[in-house]
Amino acid sequence: MPPARKPRLGVFKFASCDGCQLSVLDCEDELLAIAGAVDIADFREASRAVLEGPYDLSLVEGSVTTAHDAQRIKEIRAQSKALVTIGACATSGGIQALKNFGDVEEFRRVVYARPEFISTLATSTAIADHVPVDFELRGCPISKVQLLEAIGAFLQGRAPNLPNESVCIECKRRGNVCVMVAHGTPCLGPVTQAGCGAICPAFTRGCYGCFGPQATPNTASLIGELKVLGMAPPAVQRLFRTFNANAPAFRAASESVAAEASTP
Ligand code: SF4
Ligand code: SF4
Repeated sequence: MPPARKPRLGVFKFASCDGCQLSVLDCEDELLAIAGAVDIADFREASRAVLEGPYDLSLVEGSVTTAHDAQRIKEIRAQSKALVTIGACATSGGIQALKNFGDVEEFRRVVYARPEFISTLATSTAIADHVPVDFELRGCPISKVQLLEAIGAFLQGRAPNLPNESVCIECKRRGNVCVMVAHGTPCLGPVTQAGCGAICPAFTRGCYGCFGPQATPNTASLIGELKVLGMAPPAVQRLFRTFNANAPAFRAASESVAAEASTP
């Protein structure tokens, strides 16, 4: 009897910095076990050897910023039994989604010497805005521990067991002193999904919101606290407009502050 076929894993890149794919390679010790459990069929960052789909599990990094991207993600979805998006670019549009708040034609004119060669959509959007997604792994970049849990879960046919509470919970578990209470440092931890281990507050920095909004973020309450700390509306707006600027809860928060700032 021929040996059972191993599950096929594909890793695909869209508009991104490749940092999340590097997190896959950063699994050094576990990578051999992963390679033993699956056939790495398509992972151009790691190898030029490519096996045709279909894929049992596809990991997708990056956002959709061109018409070609929008077509290609549909083809990958059609070839994938399960599709997991990895990182802020893929789950919310990434830092490049800042263009969603401006005039892309103006950016093209100002940034590029030959703008006629630049083919781009007016927006950078999450993969889930284009095709059904089975699971989203947050972070900029993703957490290696969460990645291994998600791969293991999909290979075992179960749901990944990952937290969707706020960074504040991780921060308390770690025993950090709250930088907002103790030092008046602005922090997005109360509205950001856990997963980083509250690394920034552990080094007396405020959370930057790399993991995007948690399940039920009370951004209005946090904005009130940031104002009490003396933050002006443009500064509050910038705080919400970073890696996950286009995540619906953060986008709405930054737009509410912008509207307030422009009210005479
Ligand atoms: S989420 Fe962050 S680390 Fe990952 S590809 Fe995008 S910019 Fe890079
Ligand atoms: S430092 Fe930030 S993440 Fe930690 S408890 Fe305070 S507000 Fe929450």
